[in-house]
Amino acid sequence: MSSIDIHGVGMTSQRTRERLVQRLREGGIDNAKVIEAMRSTPRHLFMEEALAHRAYEDTALPIGYGQTISQPYIVARMTQALLAHGNPRRVLEVGTGSGYQAAVLAQLVDQVYTVERIKPLLLRAQKLFRQLRLRNILSAHLDGAIGWREHAPYDAIITTAAPEVVPEELLQQLAPNGILVIPVGLSGEQELRVIVRQGDTSQYDEEVIERVRFVPLVSGTTSA
Ligand code: SAH
Repeated sequence: MSSIDIHGVGMTSQRTRERLVQRLREGGIDNAKVIEAMRSTPRHLFMEEALAHRAYEDTALPIGYGQTISQPYIVARMTQALLAHGNPRRVLEVGTGSGYQAAVLAQLVDQVYTVERIKPLLLRAQKLFRQLRLRNILSAHLDGAIGWREHAPYDAIITTAAPEVVPEELLQQLAPNGILVIPVGLSGEQELRVIVRQGDTSQYDEEVIERVRFVPLVSGTTSA
């Protein structure tokens, strides 16, 4: 296993990370556990080295294959929304991408399941999960538009790519009182929705918490 620089130097140093954490607090992230997970996750490792010096800016950045690593504020906001509702133990993420959101979640819940449709992105993320010894992340090369039936139901599902409408399959894979945090809509006009299943019924409470910009949720998988 190759050694990796978890702490970072220069722009990836602890001081730069503290500035990011300060920004998150100012933006309304007040869950201490979320703040701690954001502080301790080495975001610079989840992107191309050429961009690593920008890792602790509060902005989305390219990770190749036309995809992006989410903006830290949005990662924190989605994570906070997910934890605000009960105490989810088993969480499914749709859209592994760089693996950053999964790594943040892995510090806060018992078990993270994450699926990615672009194989090389998944392989890169899996390597990082191993290097960072994040043993409670199970990942697979799958089309997450239909969830991951094998391990359902989930206490919470988080989708980091935006469908035009909420996929029925994801609702069906929620445990009683489960929560789905999902960006929905056409590019440029998406809203971040928090959808909560009412007990074991097929009734859901729904709330819009932010305007957001995510890459689209695309059906099917690709190996390159
Ligand atoms: N959570 C990621 C965000 C990556 S961008 C991170 O922290 O870096 C969203 C990702 O969703 C992209 O990698 C894209 O390939 C993936 N994606 C889009 N549609 C998908 C689908 N149907 N199933 C699985 N992954 C999908």
